Amino acid sequence: MSLTGTYDPQNIFAKIIRGEIPAVKVYEDDTVLSFMDVFPQSEGHTLVIPKSEARNLLDIAPDALQNLIVKTQLVAQAVNKALTPDGIRIAQFNGEPAGQTVFHIHFHIIPAYDSQSEAPHASGQMADTDKLKALAERIKAEL
Ligand code: 5GP
Repeated sequence: MSLTGTYDPQNIFAKIIRGEIPAVKVYEDDTVLSFMDVFPQSEGHTLVIPKSEARNLLDIAPDALQNLIVKTQLVAQAVNKALTPDGIRIAQFNGEPAGQTVFHIHFHIIPAYDSQSEAPHASGQMADTDKLKALAERIKAEL
């Protein structure tokens, strides 16, 4: 799949935006949505996506990208306050060979803990929904 391909409105994040499939939400406004990653690499792994259509960093409108990174900072600050990790990695992949698996642009907020090892990217271990909801409540309380 090319980096400059057409946006597929049937991708999983587009379905989450339209409410066609559920997500454990952390933050939402008119322009962005943030929710828990269902295959978390660490406790509190959160995603931030724009509501506008874009596949990756190369095709998103500059103003939407600016807004997206500012909202990513907002959610990351709440993750930090709620979960007090030892570090936080912000990740973003463009194109399948670079590790992208969902072709609607998103930033990953991945807390890092000295005491916990991290699962590999897209490892396939689905998290328990109740645990994700409990984490989301703690993060939301700091927003
Ligand atoms: P990418 O590989 O495109 O950078 O990241 C896609 C992320 O979306 C992965 O971390 C993956 O675990 C997550 N993901 C895939 N499908 C779903 C889903 O249906 N719901 C949620 N909440 N996350 C998903």
